[in-house]
Formats: sequence, C-alpha cells, structure tokens
Amino acid sequence: MTDQETLLVLKTERARHAELGDTLDLHIAILEARTAVEIRDWRFEIGDQEARARLARGEPILRADELALDGEALARLFGTICRIAAKYHPEDADAFAELASQPSAVEETARNYLTATGHASRITHHATLANFVVNNVLHPFLAAYARALKPLVDDAAWYRAYCPICGGEPDFAALEKESGARRLLCARCDAEWTFHRALCPFCGEERLGYYPGSEGAYRLYTCGNCRRYLKTIDLRELAREVNLAAERVLTIGMDVTAREAGYR
Ligand SMILES: [Zn+2]
Ligand SMILES: [Zn+2]
Repeated sequence: MTDQETLLVLKTERARHAELGDTLDLHIAILEARTAVEIRDWRFEIGDQEARARLARGEPILRADELALDGEALARLFGTICRIAAKYHPEDADAFAELASQPSAVEETARNYLTATGHASRITHHATLANFVVNNVLHPFLAAYARALKPLVDDAAWYRAYCPICGGEPDFAALEKESGARRLLCARCDAEWTFHRALCPFCGEERLGYYPGSEGAYRLYTCGNCRRYLKTIDLRELAREVNLAAERVLTIGMDVTAREAGYR
C-alpha cells in the first residue's frame, strides 16, 4: 500500500469516526505532506546479489550510511511535519518549534534514528517527539526503497522479528486470512513480512497475553517480559479489504488502552 492509498482510506473513515477527529486530521495532514514529497534521484548501488547475501546473513538490506537521502527535501518535510504536529499538539508546540529550528541537523538525526535500536528502556519525552517527526520525514524515502527492494525478500526464508528492508520494528500485525500466519508491519517503511505467530517480536518471549479489541477482529497482544504490546487485526474475521497502515491509525484507542495498562 502507498501513502496515497492510505490517505484515501483515512479520508473516507474520517466521516465514520467523529471520536477520532483530531487524531485523524493530524494523520491526514501528515500523509498529505508526505505524499507531496517527490522522491528524485534516489539510488541503491549495492546490487541484487549483495542484497540477497545480507538477507541470508539475517541483515536487513538497507544500511543507514548507504542511504541516498535528499537533504533539501528532508529538511523541508521536517519543517512541515513539525508545524503540523505543533498545531495538533499545542502542549508540545515549543518542543516542535525547537526541533524545527535545527533543520541542518535532520540528516544526522535521521541516520541516528535508523541505527538506534528500539529497546531503550527509558526514552525522554523530547526524544519521543523527535522520533515521531523523523519517522514521518523518512517515510517517503524508506517506503520508496521498500517498494523497490521487496521483490528481493523471500518471505518464508526471512522469518525474523525485524524488517528485512530497513531493520525497523513492527508496530502493527495481521493474521492472514487463509493460514492465520502473522504478518508484521514495519513502523518505519510499511514493509510487511511474516514472523512466528506465538513469539514476542521485541524480546522473543513465548507466553503472550492478549486483550480482545472492541470489535471482534482486533486484538492487543502484550508481553509480560518486555512490557511491549502489538496491535493485531485478524483478517479471518473480516470480509473487507484492509489497509494495515490505515488500521494502525484507526486503532489509536488500543494504544491508549495498552499504555494505561503499563505497556509501551
Ligand atoms: Zn522497514
Ligand atoms: Zn517481549
């Protein structure tokens, strides 16, 4: 799915979800900004053979230091995302303005974000805001790579907890219609891949708890070991087509539930 497709779904759902008004407006504004970015001059020079060799070693294809990032486009989108986020989160407006005042740092911040692991146990509020902005700023670039590189990934052979394209963690999952196999959605590049259904993708724990969602198809999987959670949609329960990137936004209520229960 592309950002354009996700944007259309969210605009349609906006009318049906008055309770999510501000959240959906925020994400619609962000997707509009992301889809306005033209990815020019992006290149990937390592070649298919090297990409497959990395996958075979369990390494994601992309390495932060090899990414061609259009610094000017990055900085522009960075400013736009900061302004949008400040508008919808006025309580953090000062922090977003401070971020936006350092556009020259965006490329370095972006590469640091890509090499950082998500397992830091204590993350400051400011770092959370910066990650939110950088995640959105990088998305058009990473998604372009993901679409181009996806054919190189053998889904059945990969079977790891992190994204085969960019190494990111999942922030949403789907149980497949026919097999019930679990497909994970990358929080950074929207690539999807298959992983063991019964294992925590953050720490490998085998005993997961889960809460049923308000609608039958949704579940919230929680891990008592690492205290992380994963929102999941069971496609076997649904006749309609789903766009996982849109579901990630539409299920924001489950994030609130999970955080209130002490998961992150
Ligand atoms: Zn990814
Ligand atoms: Zn865990």
